[in-house]
Amino acid sequence: MSSNAMEEQYTILVVDDEKVIRDGCTLALKPEGYRVATAENGQQALELLGREAVQVVLCDLKMPVMGALEVLEEMGKSYPHIPVIIITGHGTVDDAVECMKRGAYDFITKPFRLDHLTLCVRRALDKQILERQAREFEEERARNLYSLALEQSRMHTIVHCMADGVLVTNRDLEVVLVNAALYQLLSLSGLTPPAPLADFIQDETLREAIQSLVSSDAEQKSISQELVSDRVHLRALSAPFYGPDQRVLGTVTVFSDITSFKELDEMKNDFVRMVSHELRSPISAIRLQHSVILDGLAGELTDKQRELITRAQAKLEGLLELINDLLDVAKMEAGFRHFEQVPLNLAEVLNEIVTFLEAKAEAQRVKLHLQAAPDLPAVLADHRGMEEVFTNLISNAINYSPNGGDVTVKVGMNGEFLEVKVSDQGVGIEPEEIPKIFDKFYRVKSPATRQIIGTGLGLPIVRSVVEAHRGLIEVESQVGVGSSFRVLLPVAS
Ligand code: ADP
Repeated sequence: MSSNAMEEQYTILVVDDEKVIRDGCTLALKPEGYRVATAENGQQALELLGREAVQVVLCDLKMPVMGALEVLEEMGKSYPHIPVIIITGHGTVDDAVECMKRGAYDFITKPFRLDHLTLCVRRALDKQILERQAREFEEERARNLYSLALEQSRMHTIVHCMADGVLVTNRDLEVVLVNAALYQLLSLSGLTPPAPLADFIQDETLREAIQSLVSSDAEQKSISQELVSDRVHLRALSAPFYGPDQRVLGTVTVFSDITSFKELDEMKNDFVRMVSHELRSPISAIRLQHSVILDGLAGELTDKQRELITRAQAKLEGLLELINDLLDVAKMEAGFRHFEQVPLNLAEVLNEIVTFLEAKAEAQRVKLHLQAAPDLPAVLADHRGMEEVFTNLISNAINYSPNGGDVTVKVGMNGEFLEVKVSDQGVGIEPEEIPKIFDKFYRVKSPATRQIIGTGLGLPIVRSVVEAHRGLIEVESQVGVGSSFRVLLPVAS
């Protein structure tokens, strides 16, 4: 047995009325690295236990004032975890048995060998340490079970009191948990988990989205989508959850009721549509009257008058353009805008637009080029819609080339798609601005484009029209070098 730093912390209490025994034990135990405390009788021993931490007690059987049997009784009440070794000299086996019955850990008989004493103490100490560890483990287990139960109860309350609907599936797409709000939002009744996902979710797109989260161990973190269930507009946000080995164990979908937002949005759209509509007629009328004046049909004009009316006319044009854009956006958002799907020769349409914009380009010192591959197939598209898309893109290319340069419109095939690429050598767009330029009313704020007039509605309209044709639009741009907008449209089969 070696004495090390750890053992020095252990205190052994020797209780004996004979000084020679106390000293003998002290002499034997100290070199083993223990701290030794002594008491002359049971009462002193109990007082000392009240003050100091003791790991093992060595206690003489018979002492004046208070003997071992009483000590054992008191210690059983107040210090049940401290092992007591009885030292018995005159004792009989009966006494020892009695002590063991009352909770003593062991006994040694006087005269004892020192190595026997230290071995006995060591064993008692080991038992004490092991028991303490077992107690600590047990306490920790109880604490863990308690916090688990607490967490479960908390989660249960959160999930069931939420206004949002919650649906949890395992990785076999079985619904394992739902809350009360979900039944209400999806107008469900009579269904209880576990049940197949299809029983709870009628919307196929949502089912596919949830499936994609478990089937692929893809990086997909979450999928958000909107659906309508019984005239209630819902946003469903689905995400996978993982086990400790990072394998997908199932999915959670949270459903929020966004009907009121949708209604508000619709009201806003109706309002914009109404106001724009009401403004368009009088402004068109004023513009017509100005034309009559400019044509000299209301009498001769002085140069100053002509200049003022021409300027007013330009402002009116801008205003009408804005109103038309607003009307387009409002119609499109309300789903009122319908596009014809007729076979269209896009190269021809582009040729007309380029011819129409020639004058504007020349005024800006921009050279317009149209390059069309021969024998291109027709696209299934709406004539006015396509005019709108490419007039916007080519006008932008001209507008955002304040120093002139070439604007090239290139039409050709790209796989299954017809591709139109409008490239310019203009101001370009910063990479961080690119995702924003398709937002309504967004205009890049830079000294290079400050004087260029626009509404910020062109590109959002372009994108909606392209997407309504099941097409795609992409941008590549470099500041100071130029931009290129690529539109891909499915060809008519
Ligand atoms: P508008 O041109 O009326 O401002 P758009 O929606 O057509 O609105 O365009 C949004 C913004 O995108 C523009 O304000 C401009 O900053 C940028 N942009 C569009 N086309 C180009 C282009 N060809 N070159 C550089 N910037 C462009």
